[in-house]
Amino acid sequence: VTKKDDDDTTTTSSSSSSPIVQGPITTRFPPEPNGYLHLGHAKAISFNFAVARAFHGRCHMRLDDTNPSKEDEEYVESILRDVRWIQSGLPSFDKFSDSKNDGDDEEEKGPWYGPVRKTSDYFELIYDAAIMLIERGEAYVDELSAEEMREYRGTLVEGGKESPWRGRGVDENLRLFREMREGKHPEGKYVLRAKIDMSSPNLNMRDPVIYRIKHESHQATGDAWCIYPMYDFSHPIADAVEGITHSLCTLEFEDHRPLYDWVAERILKEKLVDCGQPRQIEFSRLNLKYTVLSKRKLIKLVEEKHVNGWDDPRMPTLSGIRRRGVPPAAIRLFCERMGISKSDSNIDFGIMEDCAREILDEQSPRAFAILDPLKVTIQNWEGDLEEFGVPRHPKRDDLGDRIVPFGKTVYIERSDFFDLDGPEGNANNNKAPKGFKRLLPDDKVRLKYAYVISCDKVVRDATTKEPTELICTYYPETRAGVTPEGETRVAGIIQWVEASTAKKCTVMQYDRLFKCEEPGKETGDFIDDINPDSLSVLDAVVVEPGVAQDALEVLKTIEKSEVSAEKTYHSSLTYQFERSGYYALDAAATEDNLVFNRIVTLRDTWAP
Ligand code: ATP
Ligand code: MG
Ligand code: MG
Repeated sequence: VTKKDDDDTTTTSSSSSSPIVQGPITTRFPPEPNGYLHLGHAKAISFNFAVARAFHGRCHMRLDDTNPSKEDEEYVESILRDVRWIQSGLPSFDKFSDSKNDGDDEEEKGPWYGPVRKTSDYFELIYDAAIMLIERGEAYVDELSAEEMREYRGTLVEGGKESPWRGRGVDENLRLFREMREGKHPEGKYVLRAKIDMSSPNLNMRDPVIYRIKHESHQATGDAWCIYPMYDFSHPIADAVEGITHSLCTLEFEDHRPLYDWVAERILKEKLVDCGQPRQIEFSRLNLKYTVLSKRKLIKLVEEKHVNGWDDPRMPTLSGIRRRGVPPAAIRLFCERMGISKSDSNIDFGIMEDCAREILDEQSPRAFAILDPLKVTIQNWEGDLEEFGVPRHPKRDDLGDRIVPFGKTVYIERSDFFDLDGPEGNANNNKAPKGFKRLLPDDKVRLKYAYVISCDKVVRDATTKEPTELICTYYPETRAGVTPEGETRVAGIIQWVEASTAKKCTVMQYDRLFKCEEPGKETGDFIDDINPDSLSVLDAVVVEPGVAQDALEVLKTIEKSEVSAEKTYHSSLTYQFERSGYYALDAAATEDNLVFNRIVTLRDTWAP
């Protein structure tokens, strides 16, 4: 007999006739370790943890590992890493004092309550529960083939047919089920079924299979078992043994609830566990437009190499989103905004991006980066570099200042100059595009924080006639935002990077991974809807020197860090590259190859 597995005193242990005592509100997040977590899981994580926190309860972390064929230790590790990350910065539940976890509690520690739990921890108990059902005459060993079983089950309109093995006696059922456990039978020969009601209007209640034979090693229990319980049987038992009060799950399990209750009632009645009956409560899944949220489909994207692995920043996996640089607080904000309901929704990815902007705006220092550099030579500049001390963040004094050097040669964004007399201008009747306020030949623009410049001459490539350099003049009296008296203010303000101190880096820009809102809906195969242009690599980008310094700091810290998993966490270095977007240092960046991922573009507040 297994007791509720913690020693808390708020749950009085039973002695008398009334063993049903409900403990504190307890929820659980129970992923199956058969893939990486995605944004849909983030919703389930946020919901479970938030409910527990709101009621001063607990949330358990449980790996629902009952199917060895699809599960893997790699997935276990990634799941724990992702849950830690999503919840990082939030208060943890009371530290546990479970002696059986002494020694390796580092691994077990997390935002959840107590140790990491696994359904496989309860295999013995689940087995006992099956024996109990057999003894009650409520389970039998069946030998119909899978196909026959489907046929016998009937349809919604048509009642099911009883299996010829349904009437097997208790003793024979016990013997066969024990033999199944001992490995005496091949896969598929027998299954154990609950004996409920073949005429139930609910197909799930028509004698569901609760155990099957699988001669496969399990990532946690090795070869200890060759029979494995089905989700519908193991889940209520795992919930009950952990004292889960609210078993929150997605709507597709609504029809399974009678079966959940059926199992839970029996193990409580038979005192296999000793606590209140858990309740299953359903909520709607998160669906996102322009992406897929299904482990099966995500596995396909990775295995067929449509993306560069699970943590490809275009993936809706939590590891992809983390690598892209989205802060966990943005995902939590997103989940909060989505809310919880029972109605199905197909959410616009843009809402997620808005949440990311909101959090990133607050936390990210500003910096200058030039994605497509055009060289500007200031012909009247004399002497060395000048340093401007400018705020790291316009609204956060606590982040202090940064130093931006200025000098004779700077880079500006090619698109901030309109080449009236070149190919670009010719194509536009030698007129600037409507509303264009940045640099034109013989005109002025302000280099933010520094000076107003004017363009005197365009140097061109001999063959393409494209501008390769602008020869400019600067106006000392316009320093740091000053407009001299009597002069009109220059409307355009652009970013720049001084050339001799500029650092080269690579920028990865991501677009949607799919071309349409519901991948696969029209074409039948979601793979056909992959957007071929979802990644563009810019390899001539320059950034102001402070960015490279910060990046090197971060890389050094990671190098020193003992925890290798830290590697995937370090996209915490984020910037707003002014007038462009939010960017994060990529996990694969090195000292010699700085790589930044564009997390999301800016709202066009400052763009012309
Ligand atoms: P998938 O369908 O992607 O394979 P799953 O539902 O099989 O996912 P589990 O590992 O069983 O994945 O999920 C763990 C928990 O996360 C479950 O409680 C499940 O209901 C929840 N969950 C999974 N996908 C979503 C989603 N899109 N929205 C909300 N919750 C989800
Ligand atoms: Mg599943
Ligand atoms: Mg599923």
